[in-house]
Amino acid sequence: MTQFTDTKFTSLGLAQPILKALAAEGYETPTPIQAQAIPSVLAGKDLLGIAQTGTGKTAAFALPILHRLAEDRRPNPRRGARCVVLSPTRELATQIAESFRRYGKHLNMSVAVIFGGAKYGPQIKALAGGLDILVATPGRLLDHIAERNADLSTTEILVLDEADQMLDLGFLQPIRKIIGRMSRQRQNLFFSATMPTEIGKLAGEMLVDPAQVTVTPVASTVERINQRLLFVEAPRKRALLAELMEEENIRRAIVFTRTKRGADRVAQYLDKAGITAAAIHGDKSQGQRERALAAFKKGEVRAMVATDIAARGIDIDGVSHVIQYELPQVPEAYVHRIGRTARAGAEGAAIAFCADDERNLLRDIQRLIKLTIPSFDRRNDKGLALMAAATASLPAAEQALPQKKDRPARPPRAAARSP
Ligand code: AMP
Repeated sequence: MTQFTDTKFTSLGLAQPILKALAAEGYETPTPIQAQAIPSVLAGKDLLGIAQTGTGKTAAFALPILHRLAEDRRPNPRRGARCVVLSPTRELATQIAESFRRYGKHLNMSVAVIFGGAKYGPQIKALAGGLDILVATPGRLLDHIAERNADLSTTEILVLDEADQMLDLGFLQPIRKIIGRMSRQRQNLFFSATMPTEIGKLAGEMLVDPAQVTVTPVASTVERINQRLLFVEAPRKRALLAELMEEENIRRAIVFTRTKRGADRVAQYLDKAGITAAAIHGDKSQGQRERALAAFKKGEVRAMVATDIAARGIDIDGVSHVIQYELPQVPEAYVHRIGRTARAGAEGAAIAFCADDERNLLRDIQRLIKLTIPSFDRRNDKGLALMAAATASLPAAEQALPQKKDRPARPPRAAARSP
């Protein structure tokens, strides 16, 4: 499993204005689902994506869609949209629309979002002039179709996101009705984290000769590893790491940082504190990297401080601990990082530091792995000793507390209407 692929965004054939927006976002390398999906979608193919939130799937469809719409400019269909994205919840719909706006900010695309529980007036107005991209929950969109506020007969691209959630929320009928109002001449992208029979059936009805992209389920790795989370103020992370490394249980650790400079700084700090450490990242020469790895393998260096991309090539048995000095931007990377320990069925432990400004990243990670990671607060003095003990001895099965599924308590109001 690799967090990112060797592909660069610049080699995928996306238009310059999109690449410019990506650069501004700080995205350099596509996630696996992006690298696999973007070329097929650009080629106009239907797509079946088995992936959950946190894998980068929104950009996997938004980027090639923006490219296709921009390449072939057409007047927006009155009361309609060139691309329609169906989303199960208003929160997700809002996020998706926001992603289209960010990635398409140099393309002058009209984007609107429509969901139940909001006023009709502004939605009718947004539809009236015609849109490039419409993101909607199915119930409310169907209302607009019934009231003739919306006409999707010329829509060119349809995205169905989180199809399995749509099923759970009772949206299958409205979706079928919406599709029934569309022209058959369209590209279809279908995303679901799981494939219950009814969802497979719907995909079969919707998709023509689709490209299929599956992002490996993460649960098996996650369950095998003892995970702990340590809340700590950002300026105190360095000292905490040094203190943690005094634990003998930590025989060989990979420490993840977000940036190359961060990796250097952390390695230097550890070294000064008397803990053998080396940094590896993209700015180091091949020779330096090989020497550092060899020293790490021999046990001369206890802490290897690495960025995600540099760590890709590291395949070393006997890494007793993975320490995430900073949480990753892409939630899936969390899983790839912890997968560096407990290789070949060996025992392993993963410790992640979380500062206050990383709480959002943590929320996305826990949502992805569907676990609440047992946590300790640094401000409690006993925290550290307790954590070190727990990390060394707890069997994996005991330390993962199932998390409530992340889902609105009640479907959006529009869904409550019988279709
Ligand atoms: P998603 O699975 O679409 O919800 O995306 C998960 C998160 O990863 C979002 O916060 C995105 O902004 C971020 N993200 C997606 N693709 C990339 C990428 N290629 N590089 C860095 N961050 C990304």
